[in-house]
Amino acid sequence: MSNTRFTTNDVGIPVASDDESLTAGTQGPILLHDHYLIEKLAHFNRERVPERVVHAKGGGAFGELVVTEDVSAYTKASLFQPGARTESLVRFSTVAGEQGSPDTWRDPRGFAIKFYTDEGNYDLVGNNTPVFFIKDPIKFPDFIHSQKRLRGSGLRDHTMQWDFWTLRPESAHQVTWLMGDRGIPRSWRNMDGFGSHTYQWINAAGERFWVKYHFKTDQGIEFLTQAEADTLAGTDPDYHRADLYDAIERGEFPSWTLHVQIMPVAEAETYRFNPFDVTKVWSQKDYPLVKVGTWTLNRNPRNFFAEIEQAAFAPSNVVPGIGLSPDKMLLGRVFSYADAHRYRIGANHAQLPVNAPKNTVDSYSQDGNMAYRFNDPSTPVYAPNSFGGPHADPERAGDDGLWTFGTEAVRAGYVEHREDGDFVQAGILVREVLDDAARDRLANNIIGHVLGGTSSALYERIFEYWRNVDAELGKKVEAGVLAGA
Ligand code: NDP
Repeated sequence: MSNTRFTTNDVGIPVASDDESLTAGTQGPILLHDHYLIEKLAHFNRERVPERVVHAKGGGAFGELVVTEDVSAYTKASLFQPGARTESLVRFSTVAGEQGSPDTWRDPRGFAIKFYTDEGNYDLVGNNTPVFFIKDPIKFPDFIHSQKRLRGSGLRDHTMQWDFWTLRPESAHQVTWLMGDRGIPRSWRNMDGFGSHTYQWINAAGERFWVKYHFKTDQGIEFLTQAEADTLAGTDPDYHRADLYDAIERGEFPSWTLHVQIMPVAEAETYRFNPFDVTKVWSQKDYPLVKVGTWTLNRNPRNFFAEIEQAAFAPSNVVPGIGLSPDKMLLGRVFSYADAHRYRIGANHAQLPVNAPKNTVDSYSQDGNMAYRFNDPSTPVYAPNSFGGPHADPERAGDDGLWTFGTEAVRAGYVEHREDGDFVQAGILVREVLDDAARDRLANNIIGHVLGGTSSALYERIFEYWRNVDAELGKKVEAGVLAGA
């Protein structure tokens, strides 16, 4: 062979053969001391890490956020200062499907972004919808179980989906979205992204604002009909992953315009919808979109496993100038994402190149599986110390987790603001945003989904759910399901 690259094992030692194992004679047993064979088989057995229990199937790319406007009155976060350019990584995904599942199933899409800022990594772990199915994290495992598979047969099951949704009417807004046109985007390039939760922005003077993020696609919203999506699920299950990869390879870099909605803290208590309830949006008529900049994807991963499968996004990664909010789903996710990465990838997942920040890390964490970054031996291993180790500085950190709240521990729902209600915004979406054709498609998508194996024992409750969203839609769903049953 003219090729001058020679195989080594994983510690660089030249290997004799990738063709024949070492045996005792031509028909003898394979010898245990063929350590290269053993390394090869044993490493192969360990190629998979546990897939994400949600958002398992996805794809992603690298890009850059460029801030074109001045929002410094609202946040001091360095990545949002005028003219700032920040490298970033995104991972798009479906929610319920497993690693090999089709990209075109009806499902919300994950829209998780990591910004490599000069003050550490900021992760905005959002979706392509501005709302979510539930508003309290204690319901999350039940919700996901209902979207996944039956215990006995291992099959997906529409009965449990509709059972859960109708027993949890707070799902109505998100389910209306899901069953509508935007429930199956044509591509990841053709969908918007939302931070979904309410976050906090803090400016240089220490003033706080509640904020919601909107990434509006510059490619235009496009969707797949149910029939198109069903066909693609069979013929091209990686349709969305391929679309993004191929577009970037062609030099067609997709972009989104980043906007925020800003709510002065003092207005939160009296706003007509509870602004921390993730099943609700803030009307853009009340809080118009404020432009921030442009976010562009311009580089494909060079290794899917290392850079996308092992990418670890966590809503707990918030940088100075940005904070959390009393949104309970957000607070639950602040625990569960970092915990998932410790389980899936290990305690040192932040040391992997894709997860490591660009700025200096100076923490007291040490050891653990696969540790390879470590402090200079002269750095003390404990804090506080008298020998020059790093010390925490509240001035630099900001107060990301602070807001005013009572001290009494309670298990209570959100305080209902005057226009709250599980069905209100879903009804507005149906009556005031959709046109007749979109309303028809919505009704047909619901009818098709219900007829896809949902127990007839749930029909009346499903009709009632949709009558509550919109009387006309409820009637159509009832007639369509009964005609097709
Ligand atoms: P607006 O009329 O100001 O905004 C309507 C919003 O609906 C726009 O963001 C529009 O996005 C979006 N939209 C259009 N078609 C669809 C569709 N088929 N499925 C989902 N969303 C769609 O109204 P309000 O802000 O007062 O909100 C009214 C309703 O609009 C809400 O109850 C909510 O369901 C929905 N909505 C609201 C959002 C918000 O953050 N306020 C965000 C998205 C939806 P686009 O400009 O891309 O067409």
